[in-house]
Amino acid sequence: MAILVTGGAGYIGSHTVLYLKEQGEDVIVLDNLSKGYSGALLGTLSYKGDIHDESILDEIFNTHKINSVIHFAASSLVGESVSYPLSYYENNVIGTHRLVKKMVEHDVKHIVFSSTAATYGEPNSIPIEETDPTIPTNPYGETKLAIEKLLKWSDQAYGLKSVCLRYFNAAGADPAGRIGEDHDPETHLIPIVLQAALGKRESIKIFGDDYDTDDGTCVRDYIHVMDLAQAHYLAVKKLQEGAASDVYNLGNGKGFSVNQVVETCKKVTGKTINAELAPRRMGDPAVLIASSEKAKRELGWTPQYQGLEVMVSHAWEWHQNNEDGFEK
Ligand code: UDP
Repeated sequence: MAILVTGGAGYIGSHTVLYLKEQGEDVIVLDNLSKGYSGALLGTLSYKGDIHDESILDEIFNTHKINSVIHFAASSLVGESVSYPLSYYENNVIGTHRLVKKMVEHDVKHIVFSSTAATYGEPNSIPIEETDPTIPTNPYGETKLAIEKLLKWSDQAYGLKSVCLRYFNAAGADPAGRIGEDHDPETHLIPIVLQAALGKRESIKIFGDDYDTDDGTCVRDYIHVMDLAQAHYLAVKKLQEGAASDVYNLGNGKGFSVNQVVETCKKVTGKTINAELAPRRMGDPAVLIASSEKAKRELGWTPQYQGLEVMVSHAWEWHQNNEDGFEK
């Protein structure tokens, strides 16, 4: 039995594929390579194609014995989603509708879905728990929440069991240095700071220092990408053992401000990093910190790489050896 990973050539997807293979799983990837890189697949059997393409989904489900799907394929930038909401609804919601329709037709009963802290919007209380209100403040979060609901109703109607994993801020890279984080253009804080450390950028921008936090910059809960990968594996296993559908937060329960991230990057790299103050970025809540007690309790999730320094060190290792990222 194999696991189909959609979006398996992207950042979190490719690290999950690597982790699954290390656990001895049979993995097949579907990725349109619009954002991901074939170099991140390290030779995993893959189909270049889109989740909107029903014929490629039929081909995959007819050719391979797929027992479960891990679904990453999506557009995932908050700012971009505000400018292009229709494209986000099309890629994320309509794309997932196609995928789920084909899963139901081919009697595939388990899906682990890549959801997000953006489903919560501006939190009422910290740390955020799964039962807290979900009021997204941008189309990205809205589309992910709409998919969670699509999955809930598909369980009731078709018996499709799902685990929705709401990640906080993914960080780090494969500790063995085989793959890492590469977006084009890069928008995420840690890789941007590391590009500055490498001299590939003159400076970085700090988006706002007038938030209601200790140093005025936004606070986020960073979680190692390999720890996210572990959670996907555990979620698939739990579904395969007959568990009910559920939703879990994935974070470390510890917040770091933008300034603290920059300081950690300076310490790990030993480089000077020029930072400029810039206006706030639209849609950024001041503080996002997860309670992940439920995932620890119910999935048996045990994050291995909890310190920010470890995450930055692994990312730095990969960036130093791959200054231009994956082959374009
Ligand atoms: N950020 C920043 N400068 C940058 C990129 C990000 O100050 O060049 C801030 C951003 O406003 C947020 C935090 O860093 O508060 C993490 O942003 P990122 O884009 O890495 O992840 P997100 O929180 O959007 O998932």
